[in-house]
Amino acid sequence: MMRLKADYHTHTHYSDGKGTVLDNVRAAKKRGLDTLAISDHSWGHGYFGLKKEKKNQYFEDIEEAQRIFPDMNILKAIECNILGPDGAVDLTPEEMKEFDIILCGYHFGSKIRNAGDLMMHVSNALHKFTGLGEKRVIKTNTKAILRALDHPIDVLTHPGDKGPVDIVAIAKKAAQRGIKLEINQRHKHLTTEQLIQIKDLDLEFILSSDAHSPEAIGEVEKAYASILSSGLDRKKIVNLKETL
Ligand SMILES: [Zn+2]
Ligand SMILES: [Zn+2]
Repeated sequence: MMRLKADYHTHTHYSDGKGTVLDNVRAAKKRGLDTLAISDHSWGHGYFGLKKEKKNQYFEDIEEAQRIFPDMNILKAIECNILGPDGAVDLTPEEMKEFDIILCGYHFGSKIRNAGDLMMHVSNALHKFTGLGEKRVIKTNTKAILRALDHPIDVLTHPGDKGPVDIVAIAKKAAQRGIKLEINQRHKHLTTEQLIQIKDLDLEFILSSDAHSPEAIGEVEKAYASILSSGLDRKKIVNLKETL
């Protein structure tokens, strides 16, 4: 039987999640997790990112939850945004230092700085709905992510979810940089097919819920089924407690 010891990817009302920090921690405890990261979207998301001016309150809520549940390990995390083809992210290295763990992913709705950012979003959206321009979006997305992996991040979230990528190139660079790739319950990426392509590389993974409500914390069954189908060695998944 598989058991998760940590869920490193959960959202609260500080971004687009439903629960409070405490709601998430209570749910994690009920699920038997040892470790929970509160990882709301960062302020470079134009619609629902954590407001910069709320950051201190965010930290205080996490610290208070830690005091209430001293037996849990509660991490100050953030899911920052890859902004465009240059791989820029919306947190400075100084800002990153304030968090225990940095997740990073490409999302629609991140703030647009220039025509390149806009084109990347438009071509991905167009591809998603029509299938057009596959080769070009793979090239743009892969280049953006490879550059984003130069930042001091810990986890690349749901690679390929908003548009196709060269997952082998990304996984090789992540392996070199010691960055973990995420197998995400909510977004279905990494997919079984992606896992099959990269399972033999010397690379670590996390399995996470990406919960946007407390009830979904620790829920990873579909993503876990995908791991089993791919044949990925479960020892490479850092937050599994025990496997058969
Ligand atoms: Zn995300
Ligand atoms: Zn997320």
